[in-house]
Amino acid sequence: MRERVIRLGERSYPVYAGRGALGRAAPSLFEGGAVVTDENVYRLYRDRVDSLCGPERVAVVPAGEGAKTPERLAVLWSFFARAGLKRGSPVIAAGGGVMGDLAGFAAATYMRGVPFVQVPTTLLAQVDASVGGKVAVNLPEGKNLAGSFYQPRAVVADTSFLDTLPEREIKTGLGEVVKHAMLGSGRLAELLTGGDIGAHWDEIVFENIQTKAEYVERDERESGPRMFLNFGHTFGHALEAYTRYERYNHGEAVAIGMALAVRAGIALGVTAPETRGALLGLLERHGLPCETDIPPAAFLPLMRGDKKNQGGDITLVLLKSPGQPVAHRVSPGELDKIFIP
Ligand code: ADP
Ligand code: ZN
Repeated sequence: MRERVIRLGERSYPVYAGRGALGRAAPSLFEGGAVVTDENVYRLYRDRVDSLCGPERVAVVPAGEGAKTPERLAVLWSFFARAGLKRGSPVIAAGGGVMGDLAGFAAATYMRGVPFVQVPTTLLAQVDASVGGKVAVNLPEGKNLAGSFYQPRAVVADTSFLDTLPEREIKTGLGEVVKHAMLGSGRLAELLTGGDIGAHWDEIVFENIQTKAEYVERDERESGPRMFLNFGHTFGHALEAYTRYERYNHGEAVAIGMALAVRAGIALGVTAPETRGALLGLLERHGLPCETDIPPAAFLPLMRGDKKNQGGDITLVLLKSPGQPVAHRVSPGELDKIFIP
C-alpha cells in the first residue's frame, strides 16, 4: 500500500492505494459513520461493506447514473438522521464514481458538512474521482448541474476491488489513464506499453493519483492548469450528450475526444504530428476507440453549450507534444473548417 497526501492547505487529505488497502486502513476513519453503496457492490462485497460501520448503517441505492438525483439526497439525509450521525461522523462512499458524487454531495450538505471518506471500487473512480473533490447530482435539465467542491477526509483505493470489475468498466477507466499518460506521466506511458496491465494495478493507480494530484494541487477550483485535465473532454462531452450517454461510456468518449483534439491541434499547427501516433498507439493497444462514424457536423454544435466555455469561443486543451498541454481558444468557425469538409 502506498500513500499520497493531496496537499490542499487545511483541506489536505491522504489517499491510500494498493491491494488490501481497505483492510489496513485505520478503523477510526469509519467510526460512527454511515456507508452509501450501490446494489452491485453490496452484492459482491457485503461483508467488507458491513464491517466498516456495522450492517445497520449501510444505505444501498440502485446502481448507475440514475441514482444521482436530488430526491435520493433527501432519502440519504433522513437515513443519516435516523442513524444518529453527528457533526464529526463520516459518510463513506463505497462504489464507483456515481457513489462518490452522490454520497459526497450528501456529506457536503448534511449538517452543513460532515467528514467524507471515499472507498472507490472502479478503476475510473480510483484514477479520477478520488482526487479533485467534485460532487454532484443530476437534474432533469442536465448532468451534474447541482453540486459542489467538497474534499474528502481520506480516500482508500483498494485495487483488489478491480478483480470483479467487468471489462467495459475497466476500459472506461483506461480512457482517463491514457489521458494522464499523454498529459505527462512517462512512467504511465511505460506501464501502458509494457506487459499485462492487470499485473500492475497498484502502480498504475498510484501513478494516476500522482499525476492528477499535481494538477489539482496547483489549482483546486479549476481556473488554471487544472483545466488541462479536460484534455479530450470538450469533444468527449459533446459526443456523450449527442448519443444521450447510451452509445459510449465516459472513457470511450474521452478516447475519441483526445483523438479529435490531436487532429484539431495538428490542423491548427499547435500539435507536433508525431503526437498522433503516440496517442493512437495507446488507445489501440487497450481496445479504446479513436474515431466515430457520427459526423462532426452533428455533435460539434454541442461543444458551444459546454459549461466550461466563456463567450462564443471554445477553449480546447491541445497537446504541443506528449506531456505538453496548452489551452487554445478557437472560434466555432475555425472548428467547422477543420472538421466539416
Ligand atoms: P464509474 O465509476 O465508472 O463512474 P459507476 O459508479 O456507475 O461508474 O460504476 C460502474 C458500474 O460498476 C456500476 O454498475 C457499479 O455497480 C459497478 N461496480 C462498481 N464497483 C464494482 C466492482 N468492484 N466490481 C464489479 N462491479 C462494480
Ligand atoms: Zn473524465
